[in-house]
Amino acid sequence: MSLLATDGLVKEFGGVRALEDLSVSVDRGELVGVMGPNGAGKSTLFNCVSGIVEPDAGRVTFDGEDVTGDAPETLARSGLVRTFQLTRELETMTVRDNVRLAAPDQQGERTVPALLRTDAMQEQERRVRERADDLIETFELERLADEYSSALSGGQRKLLELARVLMLEPDLLLLDEPFAGVNPTLTREIAGRIRDLNDGGMTVVVIEHEIETLTELVDRLIVLQQGRLLVEGDPEAVLSDERVIDAYLGE
Ligand code: ADP
Ligand code: MG
Repeated sequence: MSLLATDGLVKEFGGVRALEDLSVSVDRGELVGVMGPNGAGKSTLFNCVSGIVEPDAGRVTFDGEDVTGDAPETLARSGLVRTFQLTRELETMTVRDNVRLAAPDQQGERTVPALLRTDAMQEQERRVRERADDLIETFELERLADEYSSALSGGQRKLLELARVLMLEPDLLLLDEPFAGVNPTLTREIAGRIRDLNDGGMTVVVIEHEIETLTELVDRLIVLQQGRLLVEGDPEAVLSDERVIDAYLGE
């Protein structure tokens, strides 16, 4: 049984069909790439799956349950998480706070005075701090931990975005262009982290426009064109498929 499946997804934006009867699936433990020309519907697919936009038709199934139209927070709690770019508000926080505050269920810290916090709350807060520090170390952001996030380079921001979503301990991680604007060295670094997460058992789906990076990273490729599934399968086979070559030549 697949961990994630879409069945006949349709999404229209003012007459533009971003997704047209799209059915794709991902098995538990897979590392899958989604590619396709600009406007093919890649981000819309992620948005429909992660509850950011509601599809006009079709179904999303996660871990055997129909989750179509569920809110992003609900999905995140059940283990389905996508990365988000840092907002302006988050840029005015330090790297460390950004990572810590990504943890779920932290109402305790903000609303309950220190004196009234239970042992369980304090234990939970300690775990959050530890996990955040571990992730900051894993992503080699220690040197920058107390800097404002606005001071980070494009690539460092991508690392921070990854560290943040990992606070949610996802089963399924959706990454939308994790290498965009990242230099080759950091690209290799981020690709390595993604592979490590997958080796550790996490199911990962990566959107990427750049073909070479994605082909080296993933086990299977899904290619979209104009909201439809064009080709899917083994990366090498997909890349030599004439339909894919044609789709990219038209760019
Ligand atoms: P990709 O990520 O593959 O580049 P998108 O999913 O972002 O493609 O976009 C697919 C199509 O849907 C494009 O024509 C885009 O302009 C349109 N689209 C996506 N999101 C919106 C939106 N929120 N409002 C209007 N049109 C949108
Ligand atoms: Mg996109």
